[in-house]
Amino acid sequence: MPLYQDQELKIYNSLSSKKEIFKPINEGCVGMYVCGPTVYSNVHLGNVRTFMSFDMIFRYLKHLGYKVRYVRNITDAGHLENDADEGEDKITKKARLEQIEPMEVVQRYTVDFHNILDILNFLPPSIEPTATGHIIEQIELIKNIIGKGFAYEVDGSVYFDVHKFNTSYDYGKLSKRKLDDLIHNTRTLDGQSDKKNPQDFALWKKAEPQHIMRWPSPWGDGFPGWHLECTAMSTKYLGETFDIHGGGMDLKFPHHECEIAQNEAAVGKSPVNYWMHANMLELNGQRMSKTTGNTINPNELLSGNNDKMSKAYSPNAIRFFMAQSSYRSVLDLTDDGLKASEKGLNKLLEAIAIIDKLITSKTSEGFDISTWRQRCYDAMNDDFNSPILIAELFNAVKYINQIKDGTAHISAEDLKLLSLTFNAFIFDILGLKKEASTTEDNTHKLNSTIEILIKLRAEARANKDFALSDQIRDELLAIGIQLKDGKDGTLFSTN
Ligand code: AMP
Ligand code: ZN
Repeated sequence: MPLYQDQELKIYNSLSSKKEIFKPINEGCVGMYVCGPTVYSNVHLGNVRTFMSFDMIFRYLKHLGYKVRYVRNITDAGHLENDADEGEDKITKKARLEQIEPMEVVQRYTVDFHNILDILNFLPPSIEPTATGHIIEQIELIKNIIGKGFAYEVDGSVYFDVHKFNTSYDYGKLSKRKLDDLIHNTRTLDGQSDKKNPQDFALWKKAEPQHIMRWPSPWGDGFPGWHLECTAMSTKYLGETFDIHGGGMDLKFPHHECEIAQNEAAVGKSPVNYWMHANMLELNGQRMSKTTGNTINPNELLSGNNDKMSKAYSPNAIRFFMAQSSYRSVLDLTDDGLKASEKGLNKLLEAIAIIDKLITSKTSEGFDISTWRQRCYDAMNDDFNSPILIAELFNAVKYINQIKDGTAHISAEDLKLLSLTFNAFIFDILGLKKEASTTEDNTHKLNSTIEILIKLRAEARANKDFALSDQIRDELLAIGIQLKDGKDGTLFSTN
């Protein structure tokens, strides 16, 4: 029986502003879409925090036994400066400044993004679609929205008619904004735009002659608006309505609001059952952002090569630091905070290292493993409350240390359950890597094994058993370990 049948998962839905019991559309399956990066510069740790929150959510859903289709896109066109409908495309601008092709920009920063996520032990999404790979779908979507009367063309560009949409639907329901207030608060700049109303947003933008990223369309050469790609790609891979849509809090408005509007205009349905928003990462008390320059890149934090922190931090320390706060809280990245996390992490990993060496007793005493295990699930079932989970893990660390000191006892059966639960939550769900020390330990064991074989070969030679000594040498060579006899004895190299 899958675990999800035993556990009641609640998710905070930004649409209802409430925690709701999670019920997927298709039993046992979850469709989840997360807005991915715009690949025009290196990802900063703020971006990483949002993606890490959803990596943990993905991991927990999988752990519960759901078959999850996780779609996270790459925005490689259409995202204009200032996140609005005016200004230059972010990728085109970078290409112009560096005098390279836009697709070189996209390639460079997509590779960087993947490398960082790999180092930080992220699970890859099930599908990672790109905006430029879905131009046809986006054009079809625009035609559909025009056909329904919710979009209009002006001089080669197509705009979504927010005012018209709002007469049949509720524009602003996700971000809790009212169109009247938006009208009141928007300054209209004469001649800056050919929209009917400033609240309208672009579905398709006409490409000026110098604009390199362009595609033919029924409205002339142009490129898609930023909000459109997510509607086209999420519904293509997950259906007209799907389970979970995530992203950073800053995307709630206008990006996600516009996604809802586009889908409702096109197919008359709200696209998403559970909207989830990860809160912002700050750096020393100020929002981390590319625009203000208050950023630190993962590589700078990992190498220690920065002027904001006193030392380098490992991927595990960074993951653990982020998991120590709820994905819905603002988190401030500080040197002290990272140091404290590192200390806690070491305690946890030390406890893991001694679990399997603990001596068992007939019965357990001092701790109830089954209720503790359920408390770990309760924490995650409560809208993925990782800090509470970590507090529970530390309760178990205390118990493990007491067993080691002989002041508490554990039965063999309970020890097995403790070890399984500990490993599942720490490695599978929080996504910590089995420490680099495991790799170092394995290398040490391999080297010692080769030394033993070298000794046996030397003995065989001394006994004039050349068939055996040659066999040892040849079989090692066949698996890439080369023995080299010299005046200092036999050395080896591995490749
Ligand atoms: P972008 O590449 O700018 O499109 O952003 C990619 C993702 O990172 C989006 O989901 C943003 O909401 C998120 N993001 C940007 N800045 C921060 C931050 N300081 N803290 C957390 N998430 C962020
Ligand atoms: Zn998006």
